[in-house]
Amino acid sequence: MKQELLKALSTIKGEGDWVALRHVREKGHYFMARDARLDNTTMWNDAGVMVEVMINGQIGYAATPDLSTTSLHAAAKRAREQAFAASKRGVFTFDQSVRPPNKGSYRTPVEKPFADADLAKLTEVLIKGTEKLKSNSSIISTNAMAMNYDIDMVYVSSNGAEIEQSLSQICLESLATASKDGETQTRSNGFISKQMGLELLNENEFYTDCTRVGEEAYELLSAENCPSGTMDLLMAPNQLYLQIHESIGHPLELDRILGDERNYAGWSFINPEDFGTLQYGSKLLNVTFDPTLKSEMACYNFDDGGAKAEKEFLIKDGLLVRGLGALESQKRSDIPGVSNFRASHWNRPPTDRMANLNIEAGTSSLEEMISGVEKGVFMNTNRSWSIDDYRNKFQFGCEYAQMIENGKITKTLKNPNYRGVTTPFWNNLKMVGDKSTFEIWGSPYCGKAEPNQVIRVGHACPTCLFENIEIFGGQ
Ligand SMILES: [Zn+2]
Repeated sequence: MKQELLKALSTIKGEGDWVALRHVREKGHYFMARDARLDNTTMWNDAGVMVEVMINGQIGYAATPDLSTTSLHAAAKRAREQAFAASKRGVFTFDQSVRPPNKGSYRTPVEKPFADADLAKLTEVLIKGTEKLKSNSSIISTNAMAMNYDIDMVYVSSNGAEIEQSLSQICLESLATASKDGETQTRSNGFISKQMGLELLNENEFYTDCTRVGEEAYELLSAENCPSGTMDLLMAPNQLYLQIHESIGHPLELDRILGDERNYAGWSFINPEDFGTLQYGSKLLNVTFDPTLKSEMACYNFDDGGAKAEKEFLIKDGLLVRGLGALESQKRSDIPGVSNFRASHWNRPPTDRMANLNIEAGTSSLEEMISGVEKGVFMNTNRSWSIDDYRNKFQFGCEYAQMIENGKITKTLKNPNYRGVTTPFWNNLKMVGDKSTFEIWGSPYCGKAEPNQVIRVGHACPTCLFENIEIFGGQ
């Protein structure tokens, strides 16, 4: 594909001051079993080329699924016209430095390619998973899902970029709903999302986990309601990853801070002058953009603008030092950023996105954190979330919790929730779990931009302890 694109590029590069072609092919599978039956199978295979043309410091985009010379020329002309029209009203004049001429490749390390999977066997495993989820007669609904994405990308540009990357991503979900005497509770495995092959689905571990999920759904039926009050909150990585996503990731996107997303995904409470000065969290908070953590959902070597992907601290010892912005936003704002220019599909232009956004491990063991709590709640797995347009005030609910009293876990709690305001919340971070508590999570469903782009992100973090958090029970 690279040679084909380079040949096409040689014939259309005269259409602008700079021209690039990005070819993306995405193949995927979705398998869902429900209540011991196969419920849904979907497969997709989609490919096309995005043509980018720079004229007078503006970049225009036009895409086509047709790789013929005629079609690529037509797309280049549309992109040229768009760039030319934008050059009369541009908010900033770019140059080729926002599209570095890097060369290289990346491939997800995969032991069991999904493409080679025995799909009948996979279906069987998912169906058996739903049987394990039904731990007793109070379980009224079960489902088990496996989904994968195989993406091949090639990017070439008139200033010399030549990049080939192949990603394999996989998601695995199991979920059970229990109901008895008017009480209904749902427990899940938290929707595991990784960058790897089908080796993620270890049959025996999957069945053991499905059994646990089913038993915990049943356990919640007789659990006490979560108490209300201001107390300690111990948060497992399966909830903390979404807290990172919503209250660190989205507010630090530089295009939001610059106002680009204001009428759709929202703005940010962060101002440009906060970088280098704002104590975002306590001194224990270290947040990194890390495209190199093996098996995390959004690993890559180059972003979709051709920038080399490297690990960077966004928050160091609690201080905000860097934004989630790619080269265009960095030039516009003069704020340091990262290589996060990402497009969801071949027919979408890249924008500032999260990729792998993590909290670095600390030094506390789980036992030390629990024993340090006089009164608090240990929460697991997101159930609901709400956060304002500025990414400031939020409220989250979890599936499963445990009461901690005088340094010991005493009972299971249902309907746990907490609320807070972003920077006071992160400044209440009291203890950060060590490597033994560190887990890799992610999501295939981060939405942003117009037209909408749903993108896959990774978040890895340890279990963390927060103090003075407003906790409350629900229905
Ligand atoms: Zn998101």
